[in-house]
Amino acid sequence: MGLRPNLLTRRTAGVATSTLALLVSTAAVGVVPAASAFSAAPAGVCAEPADTHADARVAKGGHAKLDPNHLTAKQVREREADLATAQRERANFRTGAVAPLATVTIPVVVHVIQENSTRAGGNIPDSLINQQITVLNQAYAGSTGGAATAFSFQLTKINRVTNASWYPIVQGSSAERSMKTSLRTGGKNTLNMYLGELSDGLLGWATFPKRTLDKMDGVVVLNESLPGGTATNYNQGDTGTHEIGHWLNLYHTFQGGCSGSGDSVSDTPAEASPAYECPTGRDTCSTAGKDPITNFMDYTYDSCMYQFTAGQASRMLTAWNAYRAA
Ligand SMILES: [Zn+2]
Repeated sequence: MGLRPNLLTRRTAGVATSTLALLVSTAAVGVVPAASAFSAAPAGVCAEPADTHADARVAKGGHAKLDPNHLTAKQVREREADLATAQRERANFRTGAVAPLATVTIPVVVHVIQENSTRAGGNIPDSLINQQITVLNQAYAGSTGGAATAFSFQLTKINRVTNASWYPIVQGSSAERSMKTSLRTGGKNTLNMYLGELSDGLLGWATFPKRTLDKMDGVVVLNESLPGGTATNYNQGDTGTHEIGHWLNLYHTFQGGCSGSGDSVSDTPAEASPAYECPTGRDTCSTAGKDPITNFMDYTYDSCMYQFTAGQASRMLTAWNAYRAA
């Protein structure tokens, strides 16, 4: 881990905010329910347990089973077929028209869901949101040590909403649907990010791209997971990076385990199950390559993950041109 190029910078940033984190240590993260209480999610939604390594130790070798939101093989097949269909549709649409994009600036609308005006009630400062955008731009540019992707992010609006019935944000609930139906803005290319306390100890969840715009489209992220937040080990902003990876059509690196097409990306070694914390030398499949624990699409600590691969970058751009490009 000592070779991680940008670790010093990000650790330094963490130190700068540690006093703040201590002062607000009783805020949201400490009161989330145990991570074992996962709720079922609709197909196509990916949810991340916030800190399930305790459970994972109990269920050694069966981590993925703790996360009902992880896609089944059938769901992956359906998504891959849908991508192929979307690509055909766009190819026909584009004949003689617009060339596929090579670089993309994504407008970002951040909805800060609050129960009240206190920090514990969701009122995180703008500075955390600005730092989140910086982290996203570093991650997707490859400047933290991974492959450069086509994507950059431009914050266009911070929309603060005080509504106790939407707080915490409960995955799959009618309140979540109501919130998104009321607040989602922009076209398929607009990233709507919803920040708040989350149900079931989750760090975040995301929708995969679809051929038709859906009001549920977007990412939900634990407010205190933003850089400088209070979510210990998950407060460098990589939940946002990870969830946006799903929004751009990436699967988890452990999707499919050791067999088959895995995460449908050729340069991410297969991985039997999610990795937590920051394990050394983890190698859970007999196929080539050690587990990609430093990949943004695994489940390790923020301090442990710092890269997308070239294959993931390619998959995201393909999906963008198929699904989200104007
Ligand atoms: Zn995920």
